[in-house]
Amino acid sequence: MIIDISVPLRQPMPTYPGDAPFALIPVVRIADGAVCNGSRLQIGTHSGTHIDAPWHFNDAGKRIHEIPLARLIGYAYVADLRGYPAITAEALQAANIPPTTTRLLLKTDNSARWAHATEFHPNHVALTPDAAQWLVRHAVDVVGIDYLSVERYGAPKPEVHHILCGAGKIIIEGLNLNGVEAGEYELLCMPLLIEGADGAPARVALRSLR
Ligand SMILES: [Zn+2]
Repeated sequence: MIIDISVPLRQPMPTYPGDAPFALIPVVRIADGAVCNGSRLQIGTHSGTHIDAPWHFNDAGKRIHEIPLARLIGYAYVADLRGYPAITAEALQAANIPPTTTRLLLKTDNSARWAHATEFHPNHVALTPDAAQWLVRHAVDVVGIDYLSVERYGAPKPEVHHILCGAGKIIIEGLNLNGVEAGEYELLCMPLLIEGADGAPARVALRSLR
């Protein structure tokens, strides 16, 4: 079974404060006498479901076109961390994450908020810096979260991004893990191949292994 864990790009939708709002702008329409329907996109590199390249917060880090898909496709573990107001190292330690996990998706209370949300939710669940250090220490290569940032909104310094991007990790943000049970899956994450970019919108799915 394939589970689509992407959020739809539409207007209105929650957008990180300061990012360009998504828009699908009509260019030609059959209804207006054109031979086809065609549109133009207005989109941020961090709109909806997307990945952060390490270069987003680390000027020596890799950009989108330098990340091989092999890092983004393959075995992944979904940890159920609902009920935690913040994801700490202690929470990760208690989540029964198999020690060989290199791709880890974190299901939090955020996932339940996506369905009808149109506005950015500033009190979203995010990682603490010690959780980011835990991920680096446990050799997790790709970490996904079910909201638009792994970082607490209003954090005085982007410490979580600095730790993860500084270690060359890939971050997937804006996942919708509503209805997805904890466990092992095949992750299929396909960011748009945008040369030189700090981030890219992605279609992300899980294939169940059973
Ligand atoms: Zn991002």
